Amino acid sequence: MKIGVLTSGGDAPGMNACVRAVVRSAIHFGFEAYGIFDGYKGLVENKIRKLTRNDVGQILNRGGTILGSSRLESFKQEEVRQIAIDNLNEHGIDALVVIGGDGTYRGGMALNDMGINVVAIPGTIDNDIASTEYTIGFFTALDTAIDAIDKLRDTSFSHQRCTVVEVMGRDCGDLSIYSGIACGAEIVITKETGFNRENVLKQVKWAQSIGKRHLIVVVAEHITNVFDLAKDIQSNSDYESRATVLGYIQRGGNPSAFDRILASKMGVHATELLKQGLGGMAVYTNSLEIGHCPINEALSATDETTDLYEYLAKLN
Ligand code: ADP
Repeated sequence: MKIGVLTSGGDAPGMNACVRAVVRSAIHFGFEAYGIFDGYKGLVENKIRKLTRNDVGQILNRGGTILGSSRLESFKQEEVRQIAIDNLNEHGIDALVVIGGDGTYRGGMALNDMGINVVAIPGTIDNDIASTEYTIGFFTALDTAIDAIDKLRDTSFSHQRCTVVEVMGRDCGDLSIYSGIACGAEIVITKETGFNRENVLKQVKWAQSIGKRHLIVVVAEHITNVFDLAKDIQSNSDYESRATVLGYIQRGGNPSAFDRILASKMGVHATELLKQGLGGMAVYTNSLEIGHCPINEALSATDETTDLYEYLAKLN
């Protein structure tokens, strides 16, 4: 079997770790691995090359994607996807792993419907794929946002300011609410909370009334103009206010430990599915639930990390 792999849509830290896992595990199972460069656009333009074990060396820890990514609106048309299928057939590629967000999933499903086995892996900093608890890249982007907000808090405290920070996430508030919790933000505004100017000003005044020296307000992108909101807060409270848009720095950087492991496990899982002939599947994780049990059960429980040794065997 020949397995192709591509990254598509917005890049995310950990995509490389996932590409490595797909290529290495495919070779481990005795298959050939092919890299498709620049997402669906590269698939249509036949930018396809066989990858060796060494081709994916030294990439586990690197941000971005060595395969490149792109957006191609015309991929929604069947005749354009047929060119992609013809290119895959020309190389004898039987199956495909696509790493990206929900748009990438839709493209993968459309290819699957045209007869090629496709497995989709969630790779996006936005964590906006409902089928999985976490996407590859989310926790790294979160670490970047937290690092930036911690720094903003230092200066915000010193100058008794209200700092309004815009965090990425497209239409999903996860990066905002997680960074808000992790940084102790006083106010978090997302699509889920909704934006009500009066409520925000009320919260700011309440914070002032209980003697808060400074404030952090986290706002998800596409909700409101953070510069206008900062001005509004300044003219309606005693806080001098500043706004910062974190922007694309949240997309870059070396993947965190969590993302490297998540990406490695998902990549191996995808090739295992293809080995079984299973196409049209989306890989997910559902594992960070908080629960409880009696203490005596906690003491007698056994740890089950042994599966990680099985993953390791397929990654070298
Ligand atoms: P993400 O994968 O991060 O959500 P996009 O929404 O931009 O990013 O989708 C990535 C690419 O997937 C698009 O540029 C397009 O080539 C392809 N795609 C998106 N939606 C569809 C669809 N309905 N049918 C076929 N391909 C699609």
